[in-house]
Amino acid sequence: MSWGVRPKRRVGVMGGTFDPVHHGHLVAASEVMESFALDEVVFVPTGEQPFKANREVTEAEHRYLMTVVATASNPRFTVSRAEIDRPGKTYTIDTLRELKSQMPDTELFFITGADVLPQILTWKDADELWSLAHFIGVNRPGHSLDAEGLPETGLSLLEVPAMAISSTDCRARVAEGKPVWYLVPDGVVQYIAKYGLYREGRARTGNVS
Ligand code: ATP
Ligand code: MG
Repeated sequence: MSWGVRPKRRVGVMGGTFDPVHHGHLVAASEVMESFALDEVVFVPTGEQPFKANREVTEAEHRYLMTVVATASNPRFTVSRAEIDRPGKTYTIDTLRELKSQMPDTELFFITGADVLPQILTWKDADELWSLAHFIGVNRPGHSLDAEGLPETGLSLLEVPAMAISSTDCRARVAEGKPVWYLVPDGVVQYIAKYGLYREGRARTGNVS
C-alpha cells in the first residue's frame, strides 16, 4: 500500500456570460482539461448584468440552464451558481475565493480567451488573483494570444483548435432567422427556440417557467 501524499484535485474555472454558451467555450474547456490534467471544469455564468457593452443581457437563469444543458453529457463538466446567486455586481476574485473555501484542497485554473486576457489587470483585487488560481489563456480567432504585462509565473498560454464562434454572432443569427445548429450544442438550439430567446422584437427576459 502506498502512503504517498494524495495529489491535489485540479479544477478548471471557466467564467463567462454564456449568452448563449457555444462550442468555442466547450472546446476551450475540454482542451485545457486535457493539457493541464484537470479533474473537472466548473463553468460559472455571470450574475445579472443589466447591461454589457450597452446591450441587454439575457436573464441569468436562462444562461445558467443553457450552460447546464450544454455540459450535461460530460461527467467532468459542472456549472456553478456562485455568481448568479450572489447579489450585486460579481467579481472573479469573489468567485475564486468562494470556490477555494468550498474546495480547500484544490488547485484552481482559471480559463480565459485571448480577448479577455488584456483586461485581467483591471479586475478587482488583480494582484491577488494569481495567488488563488493559475490563469490559462487560450487563442481565439481575431485576437492575438500574448501575455504582455501579465505575471509570467501565474499564467500559461495554450493553443486550442480555433473556433470562430461568438455568442454575439449566435444572437445575431437567431435574430435574423439564421440557424445556430452546430455552433451551439443541439440542446441549446432547442432551448433558444423553446423560450424564443434572441428573436427580434421579443423581450430578452422571457420567463423560464
Ligand atoms: P459575447 O460575444 O457575448 O461577448 P463570447 O462568445 O465572447 O460572448 P463569453 O461568455 O463572453 O462568450 O466568453 C466567456 C469566456 O470564453 C471568455 O474567456 C472568452 O474569451 C472565452 N471564449 C469565448 N468564445 C471563445 C472561442 N470561440 N474560443 C476561445 N475562447 C472563447
Ligand atoms: Mg465575450
